[in-house]
Order: sequence, then structure tokens, then C-alpha cells
Amino acid sequence: MKTKKKSMISADFDLKLGENVVSLSSSVPNARVTALALLPTYQILTDKIVSHAIEQYESSERTISCKAGCGACCAQPVPVSTLEAEHLAKVVQKMPISKQAKVRDKFSESLAAIKAAGLEKSLKELPNLPPEQRIALGKQYFSLKLDCPFLENQSCSIYQDRPLECREYLVTSDPQHCADLNDKEIKHIKLQMSLVPAIVKQSQESQITQSKGWMLMLFCLDWAKKKPIKVRKKHGKLWFQSFMSEATGRDI
Ligand code: SF4
Repeated sequence: MKTKKKSMISADFDLKLGENVVSLSSSVPNARVTALALLPTYQILTDKIVSHAIEQYESSERTISCKAGCGACCAQPVPVSTLEAEHLAKVVQKMPISKQAKVRDKFSESLAAIKAAGLEKSLKELPNLPPEQRIALGKQYFSLKLDCPFLENQSCSIYQDRPLECREYLVTSDPQHCADLNDKEIKHIKLQMSLVPAIVKQSQESQITQSKGWMLMLFCLDWAKKKPIKVRKKHGKLWFQSFMSEATGRDI
């Protein structure tokens, strides 16, 4: 009798997070896939690392300021990997028509605002610029006070799909400092492990054409429209191994 191949397999591993070793399990596709198929795995893993950091922090009776309904940081420029850009374009595509139209309008309004401010070209070039210039440009972008197109009533309307950068943003300071982008006063919780560099690296690896692997989220819909980008396929286990090697700095 032919047995059906499992569509997902489980990868069990120990992760060193600060002083603790945490046993984790992730589901990965049991087939040759594009790296995009692994995005839900990376999102869940990020959430586990973030939850661990929150537990550690709150166990000593300290509190984190980030709460549902606080969109104080959501006018800051958000970098997304090209894998996430592709995913977000699909998320928008699947929205009901009226909601989709609203979100697309917000993207267009913000794009028109950065164009009018003469920032469009340099913001598109952001991944190629040195860090100091990126910070300076990020501040110019922020001065335009453009809410993220996904922000609705101070809440994230794509919470389950939000980028890793948003998932990893945790502060203990007054939300007003996030709203003012007051770098000196924003107190971030430094995660014991960030998966953002690993997803950017995997974005680069997954594309046959050369790319920096990330962009400002504001450009994701236009970028996805202008595809096709040629992407590689590998077994889910291999994508996951190279992702975790990048994240932990160890051969896996
Ligand atoms: S995606 Fe969601 S969490 Fe991230 S900036 Fe936009 S509204 Fe905020």
C-alpha cells in the first residue's frame, strides 16, 4: 500500500537564548519549495523568541510598554525582506475589495508624499547606502508623519502577517518616545536572537538575480507588481538549515 508523504515535517532543536537553552520545534515543508513557503515557520519562531524575552523581562516585575491598540511606532520606516514583501503583496491581494482599495490608496498617498518631498529615489536606494545615511534618511521619512498603510485605529490590521521587524520591536519606554522617534529615550528590549538578518540573507539566497534582500515596506506592492523575479527551489529542510545557520552563526 502506498503511504501518503507528510506535507510538513518537524524540526526539533535547542536554541541558546542568553543564559537559557530553550527546546523548540518548528514545522517545515517536506518538499522542494520556494523559501516563501517557510515564512510562516520563521514568523512563529520569531514569536517564540519574542515571548521568551517578554517572560524573562516580566519575571523580574518589569513591564513592557507595547500593547494591543498602541500604534505609536507605526509611522517609523519599516524595512522588510523581499520574502516578506512578496508575502505582504499577497496579503493585500487577498483582502476584500473595499479594504484592498483603502490599503492601496494609503500606499499610493504615502508614495506620493515621499515623491513630493524628493525622497523617493533615495529611499529606494536605502539598502545600498551606508548606515549613517540610512538613519538620516529614515528621519527625513519620519518627519513626513506617514502612518503605516496597515495601521487602522492605532492597531495593526495585518497582525498575523506583520513583518519580523515589527514582531521584534519591543520597548519599555513611554510610547510617546516611539511616536516622536526620540532615539535617546526609546528603550528597546534587546532580543537574545534576532531573525531579521537571517530572513534578509535567505531572501538574497532565494533569488537568482542579485538583490540586497530588503526594502522599505512602502515599496512592497510596487516591487511585487514589477516582478517576475526568478527564485530557487530547495527542500524545506535545507532552507530551514541555512536559515538557522545564519541566525545562530553555527553550521547546522
Ligand atoms: S505592519 Fe503593523 S505593526 Fe508593522 S508598522 Fe504597520 S501597522 Fe505597525
